[in-house]
Amino acid sequence: MIPPPGASPPRLLRIAVPSPLRRAFDYLPAEDPRAPALPLPGTRVRVPFGRGSRVGVVLEQVDHTDVPRQRLKPITSAIDETPILDTHTLSFLRWASDYFHHPVGEVVLGALPAALRAGKPLPASGETRWRLTPAGQRLDGERLRRAPRQAAVRELLAGQPGGVTRSELADLEGDWRGAVAKMAARGWVEAFEESVGVQKFAPDESLGVQKSWPAPNEEQQEAIDAVWGARGEFRSFVLDGVTGSGKTEVYLSVIARTVAEGRQAMVLIPEIGLTPQIVARLRERLSLPMAVLHSGLSDGERLRAWAAARDGSAAVVVGTRSAVFTPLARPGLFVIDEEHDGSFKQQDGFRYSARDLAIVRARQCGVPVLLGSATPSLESLNNIAGGRHEGLRLSRRAEGALVPTVEVLDLRGQPFEEGISQKLANAIEHCLGEGEQVLLFVNRRGYAPILICHACGWQADCARCDAHMVYHRASGRLRCHHCAAERGVPDACPECADPDLRALGLGTQRVVDALRERFPDARIDRVDRDSTRRKGALQGVLDAIHAGETNILVGTQMLAKGHHFPNVTLVGILDADGGLFGADFRAAERMAQLLVQVAGRAGRGQRPGRVLIQTHHPDHPLLRVLVREGYRHFGEAALSERRQAALPPFSCLALLRAEAPQRERAMAFLEDARARAQQFVDTHESVHVQALGPVPAPMERRAGRFRGQLLLQSDERAPLHGLLSPWLEELETLKSGRRVRWSLDVDPQEML
Ligand code: ADP
Ligand code: ZN
Ligand code: ZN
Repeated sequence: MIPPPGASPPRLLRIAVPSPLRRAFDYLPAEDPRAPALPLPGTRVRVPFGRGSRVGVVLEQVDHTDVPRQRLKPITSAIDETPILDTHTLSFLRWASDYFHHPVGEVVLGALPAALRAGKPLPASGETRWRLTPAGQRLDGERLRRAPRQAAVRELLAGQPGGVTRSELADLEGDWRGAVAKMAARGWVEAFEESVGVQKFAPDESLGVQKSWPAPNEEQQEAIDAVWGARGEFRSFVLDGVTGSGKTEVYLSVIARTVAEGRQAMVLIPEIGLTPQIVARLRERLSLPMAVLHSGLSDGERLRAWAAARDGSAAVVVGTRSAVFTPLARPGLFVIDEEHDGSFKQQDGFRYSARDLAIVRARQCGVPVLLGSATPSLESLNNIAGGRHEGLRLSRRAEGALVPTVEVLDLRGQPFEEGISQKLANAIEHCLGEGEQVLLFVNRRGYAPILICHACGWQADCARCDAHMVYHRASGRLRCHHCAAERGVPDACPECADPDLRALGLGTQRVVDALRERFPDARIDRVDRDSTRRKGALQGVLDAIHAGETNILVGTQMLAKGHHFPNVTLVGILDADGGLFGADFRAAERMAQLLVQVAGRAGRGQRPGRVLIQTHHPDHPLLRVLVREGYRHFGEAALSERRQAALPPFSCLALLRAEAPQRERAMAFLEDARARAQQFVDTHESVHVQALGPVPAPMERRAGRFRGQLLLQSDERAPLHGLLSPWLEELETLKSGRRVRWSLDVDPQEML
């Protein structure tokens, strides 16, 4: 077809296609002349890619491309009639891809359930409606002066925030289809599916007074009023309240109001397997359709939950970190429970922080976001201090339960057996005598972290990692916790043939064994990744605790999250020292959060709780502040240390990691990367970024590969991000990078 003179060239489609390349791909429209108008942003399309074909998502329609004309290919077909991702969600996904420098195709397609990623149709749920996008709302009416039909569409939609159907549009004079298509292409209007289910939670007075809602106390009421007062605008709140102070009640209350207005609430939680309580409480209070999204779902379940969030039939969307990417028809509120929790950070592949993204998303949606924690992250505390978040406080336990007393047990020179000092043993004995429950916290699973030859000092190390093999006595195996390596325990030392091999250090299994010997009549249960692998195993242990059958519960940090153990009156922390001297600059923060969270499990019922912390360093300054003055003061002290060391949140980091079978290869790539970064800094005066390293990773060898890292540090975000894009483009072309596995971690949470 020869275009008429003066006509603009056919528009092009910029498409997110899953690929490791950090860019989108431009295509021509489909060649089929019967094909409808250009697919809109958010629509899935099938495209030729390499020698095959892939499913992509249209990001935008563009007029210009850097790709030579003869190399442009047409898309094969559009899969969806109307966009599967709305403009809000799409621009949020693009933002996330830009910020974390992860390929946009992987980010956008990764946000879709597997069936949709594979090009299967979206299960039909309701009627297509049209509404104005934010850009359409801002549009100056003057611009449509010469397009009366578009102006009429705009006028109709402006009065209908809930959108209008095709048949309502058909009441307009003339070619409304053409007008709507043009406006959609410019990003002024968009289509969405309105589900029939929405009516289920239309404004309803009976909501919020269902079942038994405890009357909020004064502080809770203040928090509820503050967040509810921010409805319809972006404001971020941190709800800082000790465990049991009623934070969840505050969430429930604001969620109930949000959904009563017909808006959706998204609740992000650290680990669904460990927090069925919040789902149960939501269900008990609000008899509303809910979508629960987590890694344990089948593909079909995930698709249904995703579709229900997207079409608005789910009033509340609860999920773990990846749920933050789920489209919402009418977002009204974001809640992040236990916002300090490390599991909101994805540590491989697309390395993102779901907490930080939820805040960004709330801003884009223009709705409030509520971060809750008994131990807010130092970032959040600093944001409160800087006025970026509004701090809300719950200072007391809701049911009047007493805050536990915390004591530090100095282990130096004390009798000490299998990790338990005499004082702790006495306290356990006392508790058991009173019929109360004890919770003991150990930071390693297995029996003992080290197996050593008493004759020559040989240690069982992993052949592929710089790590000891952990001795698991129950199975009689040695396991590496960093790679999948596993082997049997030798009968004698492989070096000197001496049979005297000894287990050093403490794991949960060993503590349980020792306790069973000491308290033969007590029922002792264990909670760690080994004991809870079997489906339902964790629930079994939790049920036994709640039924009062368990006397002593030994567990790892899995226990620190979200559980109520009302009859636990004693919490023992066997070894606080690991966290005080960790290799990572966040080690002390994590340790403090863990101590406070574990301590929060005690005495939530009618009896007061007691927390005993064993340490060889009772005078450690941060531990002292924490125990004597509480988490808030600890936070201040730790923040001032961070400020002095110019560490986050007082600087921004990006970590380039590289690994290869040969050390030299990984390091050579990182050296090249450093040189390129330095070059960039030298030629751009405004860019104050320091490249530190490269250095070997704290655990240099893992699963047989050598690992190194290069740290980029900057006082401000903008210059760092200004460097990252061009730098990564260069890295992708580096010869030294070809046989190296490398990745970039923006705002890394762990330096290991
Ligand atoms: P958090 O989320 O801070 O750990 P929860 O919201 O789970 O605290 O509250 C702890 C316990 O106190 C729950 O059993 C809850 O039902 C109860 N509770 C919370 N707020 C109140 C209140 N205002 N009146 C009575 N009980 C309350
Ligand atoms: Zn030996
Ligand atoms: Zn290993």
